[in-house]
Amino acid sequence: MKFVSRAEWGARPPRNGHPAVPANQGVKVHYLGAPYSAGEHGTCAAYMRKVQNSHMDGNGWSDFAYNLAVCEHGYVFEGRGRNAQNAANGTTTLNRTHFAVLAFVGDSGHTSPTAEQTAGLRDAIAYLRAHGAGREIRGHRDGYATDCPGGPLYQLVTSGALEPDAAGPPPGPAPEQPAETPIPARYRVTINGLEYGYGAHGPQVTAVGEALVRQGYGTHYSVGPGPDWSDADTLNYASYQRSLGYVGGDADGVPGEVTLQLLLGRLPGQPEVSLAHVVAAARTDPGAAQGHQTYGAEALAVEQALADEGHLEQQWVDGSFGTRTVAAYAAYQRSLGYVGTDADGIPGRRSLERLATGRFTVTD
Ligand SMILES: [Zn+2]
Ligand SMILES: [Zn+2]
Repeated sequence: MKFVSRAEWGARPPRNGHPAVPANQGVKVHYLGAPYSAGEHGTCAAYMRKVQNSHMDGNGWSDFAYNLAVCEHGYVFEGRGRNAQNAANGTTTLNRTHFAVLAFVGDSGHTSPTAEQTAGLRDAIAYLRAHGAGREIRGHRDGYATDCPGGPLYQLVTSGALEPDAAGPPPGPAPEQPAETPIPARYRVTINGLEYGYGAHGPQVTAVGEALVRQGYGTHYSVGPGPDWSDADTLNYASYQRSLGYVGGDADGVPGEVTLQLLLGRLPGQPEVSLAHVVAAARTDPGAAQGHQTYGAEALAVEQALADEGHLEQQWVDGSFGTRTVAAYAAYQRSLGYVGTDADGIPGRRSLERLATGRFTVTD
């Protein structure tokens, strides 16, 4: 559970203590009942403080009304917390028979819980159960005249999907899919010569799926992840993109370079070039027989980059870091403003990393 304590979100202290409720029948789920736009998680603590202020200053209550709240990113915010009487269910009796969990879901704007939010609601219910809550999972509208928690969230409540030990997604249409993208994006992109998106195939697809699972975005997999990109991969990747604050078409579940690099820590498909290897090649090949290769593949990547930058003729892109390649590298160093021994044609880390941008990855 991604738990955010009162201290962590900057809660005011309650005006007076909350009556204790050590055990009860279960949990009631609520929505905001006001327009709400999904945003970046960085704004969620401030939103909690805003709601607390309106409850304490506007409604005159002693504290934030709910026991827990779950933002659209799946974080569980501590409200009154466990074992406390809430002020959300409508009457004192109802407040004692069920704990109250608020989802950051509006009556317009963000109206359907995200997959992360659904998982966060399950976490919140599991947490309350571990501290005395009964087995019931209800909506505010159950037993009290209100629209709360709104249609999509109430459907989730009644579907059984909030059951903490529910195995897999609930039957029927997946309620966590955002309404604006009912059909997952089905197109492919090529990044560093490797394909991603619906229909793509290869070990890079498996690597993405495994990284998504590791980081908690694997909820749409019923099998896998595997080497064939399916709608489940797209939906999981979209959850990951939304967690980074992307919205709309930028969160359609098809990778871009930036999110892919963030997810994996590197971009697959880029060759690796060792600085030590190309330095060794630049020191060895010029004195060896014509065409001698010390680290041919890595020298080739550097030579191709030098040729692309206009410092080496294509015919000398041959994997041998010979005299012409050293001279070309020196010319490249001078073009960066290096002089003297800093422009001796032996690669240094900074010049090599600059040359590598978008082409290869420099390692030690
Ligand atoms: Zn409510
Ligand atoms: Zn959040």
